Amino acid sequence: MIVVTTFAELRQARAKLPGPVGFVPTMGYLHAGHISLVEHARRDCAGVVVSIFVNPTQFGPNEDLASYPRDLPRDLSLLEAAGVDLVWTPTPESMYPPGFQTWVEVAGLTTPLEGAQRPGHFRGVTTVVAKLFNAVGPEKAYFGQKDAQQAAVLRRMTCDLDFPIEIVVCPIMREPDGLAMSSRNTYLDPQQRQAATVLYRALSAARAAYDQGQRDAGALRRIVRETIGSEPLAKLQYVSCADFDTLEELDRIEGRALLSMAVYVGKTRLIDNFVLE
Ligand code: AMP
Repeated sequence: MIVVTTFAELRQARAKLPGPVGFVPTMGYLHAGHISLVEHARRDCAGVVVSIFVNPTQFGPNEDLASYPRDLPRDLSLLEAAGVDLVWTPTPESMYPPGFQTWVEVAGLTTPLEGAQRPGHFRGVTTVVAKLFNAVGPEKAYFGQKDAQQAAVLRRMTCDLDFPIEIVVCPIMREPDGLAMSSRNTYLDPQQRQAATVLYRALSAARAAYDQGQRDAGALRRIVRETIGSEPLAKLQYVSCADFDTLEELDRIEGRALLSMAVYVGKTRLIDNFVLE
């Protein structure tokens, strides 16, 4: 496994990889969710590239950029064990040198949900992913359904800007008690970690109602709200039951729907979702 930092080193190493090349962008502090993306890429592609970059432009001023967990040696040994060919760890200074003033922005899909709660977040995500795509030039790129809106926004960007890249979205990896794996779970103390299982319980309760024929989106949102409300350490920021493709809120579920939410457990903001189909 080759580990590079600069754009020049990346281009040189990338040129030597066999194709097709699969690319997994990450912010590091890797867990089994990230590794599942690598494994998908490893199965599909002859060359696998992973980037580790805590992208400052996707964090809001009051978010956790400074405290975001980092452990590069551990990440590298996990990636080596997973059979990655090339790891790119660019620096913020090289990504955003003095004078940087070009942004990539997707319009409508970024308005609701995470976009409404985190102004500027998706502009940071689409800008950095466009730069990563340009530098790596993969045939396929792998993202997690955990960040459902991000996947939808990046699919839109890839299509609208004619990147010749196939976007592959992989299922959410969960802890045995249902909590979606996330680098941010490390912020939770033992009591909060226990409380955080309420996200999965809320989604499961809503899906049970859906499975029994409930198609009223308001009723499903209410089940989530009530279940989260039953956990004193959890505070619901939003719950959404939206069209899977447009992310517009639904009254009734007719096609594929995305049931999603953001919840604070202490100061830690957690997101999760189920696809209803
Ligand atoms: P991050 O390092 O948080 O930016 O995540 C990098 C990629 O891993 C994104 O495409 C995420 O959607 C994906 N990812 C994060 N958590 C999970 C998970 N629990 N299961 C599957 N994919 C995940």
